[in-house]
Amino acid sequence: MMPSQTSDQLTQPQTDTLLQIENLQVHFPLMRGMLLQRRVGWIKAVDGLSFEIKRGETLALVGESGCGKSTTGRAILQLLRPTQGQVLFEQTELTNLTGESLRQMRRHMQMIFQDPYASLNPRMTIGDIVGEPLEIFDLATGAIKQAQVQQLLQTVGLSPEVVHRYPHEFSGGQRQRIVIARALAVRPDFIVCDEPIAALDVSVQAQVINLMQALQQQFGLTYLFIAHDLSVVRHISDRIAVMYLGKIVELGNRDALYNTPLHPYTQALLSAVPIPDPDLEATRQRIVLQGDLPSPTNPPQGCRFHTRCPVAIDRCRQEPEPLFKDAGGGHYVACHLVDDFR
Ligand code: SF4
Repeated sequence: MMPSQTSDQLTQPQTDTLLQIENLQVHFPLMRGMLLQRRVGWIKAVDGLSFEIKRGETLALVGESGCGKSTTGRAILQLLRPTQGQVLFEQTELTNLTGESLRQMRRHMQMIFQDPYASLNPRMTIGDIVGEPLEIFDLATGAIKQAQVQQLLQTVGLSPEVVHRYPHEFSGGQRQRIVIARALAVRPDFIVCDEPIAALDVSVQAQVINLMQALQQQFGLTYLFIAHDLSVVRHISDRIAVMYLGKIVELGNRDALYNTPLHPYTQALLSAVPIPDPDLEATRQRIVLQGDLPSPTNPPQGCRFHTRCPVAIDRCRQEPEPLFKDAGGGHYVACHLVDDFR
């Protein structure tokens, strides 16, 4: 039997909110000089994020490469320590935790990385890879561990017979299943999925997404699903946060965001998503953004999207950054012109 999900879940009173992130910042020092290095600035990878993740939901975090979404995922799990801000997990502040208390809390939060080829030790057997977390956290040893490993492999659609084989004997999709089995071994509540299908063949992407959805149902998992475009997250997400240059610019329920995107950046990202209907696809108007993502060392003054925004006006350059506005129904957007878009 797969280990019971509920027996090891946290014992605090259960609320609707699993994670509360407040003003999260991750700034890296920018150093210069060959011998005597000195700090000449900051790379503002994550620059003040506030959002919550509800228990059992999938929140997608979407944006171009370099916008800070992977850094956000790592900072939530405390794999990178935030420069500022709060990360409350089941009402426990993670940024204050160290040592054994942080290690124990990490058991409840796992991460699945983009590249299943790089995230498995090529010298370990599949049985050792999936069983390692069970030993690290003293969850099972010996025959019980072996039985749990075999059960975990079956749960992700692999034969229990593969325990003696090595990662190089598997395809990309199978390796990602092994990575998922390893993450499930510690019976987590929350998983950060960092572009988990981006390195896979298109033919197996849907299989892995379907598996992740089935596991979410089966074990009551909560996902933060990171992706660089909106095409892959429609199927799996409940809500979507769109990130640009270290900030969330729009956040809303999936249908609201796809049907009535309010921020010009979201509109541009959506315009790149192919439409399955050939007639509609023929009429799709692509919004091509000019230029590259600006440097997070020195984000543009005013609205940080104004250098690429197709509808920017003087106000966007001159006034302080637009605040996050409630557009109703849990839909939030940071744009001076939001009323004009509705
Ligand atoms: Fe574009 Fe201005 Fe809105 Fe920023 S505030 S997204 S520049 S219209």
